[in-house]
Amino acid sequence: MSDPERSLDADSPLTLPGFFDALAEGDLLGGVCDDCGQVLLPPRPACYNCGSRDVAVEEQPREGRVYSYTEVQTPPPALEADAPYTIAVVELASGGRLTGRLGVDYADVEIGDPVELEVREPSEAERSLALDYELEWPVHVFEPR
Ligand SMILES: [Zn+2]
Repeated sequence: MSDPERSLDADSPLTLPGFFDALAEGDLLGGVCDDCGQVLLPPRPACYNCGSRDVAVEEQPREGRVYSYTEVQTPPPALEADAPYTIAVVELASGGRLTGRLGVDYADVEIGDPVELEVREPSEAERSLALDYELEWPVHVFEPR
């Protein structure tokens, strides 16, 4: 149940800072719409499927399958040394979809491949791209399982 009067300060898991704080502690949180069941990743205060504000925050499974993927050949200059790298949309076992880096070469990926989310500290290059309040946000990567 949600309270339409609830405040949305940065500690709320319905905000990106709250989402990343939880992720840094090992919890992958999603919003689940009480009205239509849509899983919102990261959580949001309103459902992007039906507009409802009855969004519950629930821990999400870290396992999923590659839903779609592509290769980044021209990244931001700070990440040039990482290129080329693979980005995927992963459908978690809960049905929620999350975009992230995939720890597999593009040529070795197929849609439907099973993957698992891992969380790490940002690299110096990644930190150089972050805004001040994002500096401590962890980076999630999908690895094959
Ligand atoms: Zn909904």
